[in-house]
Amino acid sequence: MSNVYEQRVNDFMAKVIAKNPSEVEFHQAVHEVVESIIPFIEENPQYKDAKILDRMVEPERVIMFRVPWLDDKGDVQVNRGFRIEMNSAIGPYKGGLRLHPTVNLGVLKFLAFEQVFKNSLTTLPMGGGKGGSDFDPKGKSDNEVMRFTQSFMSELFRHIGPNTDVPAGDIGVGGREIGFLFGQYKRLRNEFTGILTGKGMEWGGSLIRPEATGYGAVYFAQEMLNTRNDSMNGKIVAISGSGNVAQYATEKATEFGAKVVTLSDSSGYIYDPAGIDADKLAFVMELKNVRRGRIKEYADKYGVEFFAGQRPWGVKCDIAMPCATQNEVNEEEAKTLLANGCFVISEGANMPSSPEAIEVYQNAKILYGLGKAANAGGVAVSGLEMSQNSMRFNWTREEVDAKLQQIMKDIHSTCVKWGKDGDYIDYVKGANIGGFVKVADAMLAQGLV
Ligand code: GLU
Repeated sequence: MSNVYEQRVNDFMAKVIAKNPSEVEFHQAVHEVVESIIPFIEENPQYKDAKILDRMVEPERVIMFRVPWLDDKGDVQVNRGFRIEMNSAIGPYKGGLRLHPTVNLGVLKFLAFEQVFKNSLTTLPMGGGKGGSDFDPKGKSDNEVMRFTQSFMSELFRHIGPNTDVPAGDIGVGGREIGFLFGQYKRLRNEFTGILTGKGMEWGGSLIRPEATGYGAVYFAQEMLNTRNDSMNGKIVAISGSGNVAQYATEKATEFGAKVVTLSDSSGYIYDPAGIDADKLAFVMELKNVRRGRIKEYADKYGVEFFAGQRPWGVKCDIAMPCATQNEVNEEEAKTLLANGCFVISEGANMPSSPEAIEVYQNAKILYGLGKAANAGGVAVSGLEMSQNSMRFNWTREEVDAKLQQIMKDIHSTCVKWGKDGDYIDYVKGANIGGFVKVADAMLAQGLV
């Protein structure tokens, strides 16, 4: 980047940091975007004159609320609830709810900001939002989760609607939580509408939605490999996480002939050099989704190694798929991955690589598919769930999967269109500019709002 652009980026960031002190993840997400966008808007002054970027870093609305609930002992607990309504230029606010003790305003603003670009890339009409709470679901009973989610929805319901804001799942929010949230909304409003996605199949959910984020991230890896006339077949894959995204990434990668050798949770990772096949994956799904146990049990059951307190980036692999959480790959780990022969990164999580790790990938010119492109399959099928709810009709598994595959191809093409630089495809630049243009043009058309 030239010195002039670098100065502009620094000036812009200084303003963002001064206005949003201590929101470090938000600063990180904005910085990654403005590094791509500032040179672009210098050449496209209509966006600069209308201060589109200044407007995009300011949420349209932030809702913050008290969530009191009773635990199983009858004691009062108090959590903080949030919904960030970031941008509605191209559709209703759309994005998940995260329940995790690390949730705070800065984390949700980073996620909502990323969601705006991601949703734009899907080609579907969805704005960007994100929400959640610092509630920790770990170790809580079903009844405690129900009482918390009912209390959470008792405030959130007045802010959302099928044409206003449509939340979904994220870390700590799966089928069980979406069920409780939907039930409470319906009771308060006396209305059965598509106000959440990720619903159960019997009550308005879409086929392939549970699989979509993980499948999509593998489809995206496959698209990247295609550009080098290569494929997933025979590749060794390291995956982090063991929740919804990691599980279905494992399933699809294995179906494509790759061997997935790691999974992890907050206590450590398992390394299974023989590969996590369909039977072993069924065990993981029961362990994590039903019994809600720890991944170490996999090592005990299958007699493989468990590495306590470590992340899986030290193993030999061709492809790494971070599917756990933000900043889970640092500079050292990125260097180790590359030294071990890894040449494809497809991110199932949001912002899992630190800025320094991204620099390592970019300098080495490996295939780096950042989260807002590679993990957009989840929200894309959420968009398809909204369409099906509006039509009061359901597509088949094959129909939804075909649409998902097409969307991932389209996202890849958009990244190539805006990020191609000679032989190299800069997916960061491609996704940021590609996501930006549609939202920015809509904002220009709609005047100063
Ligand atoms: N939480 C997911 C994401 O990060 C999905 C959001 C949705 O389906 O609305 O994109």
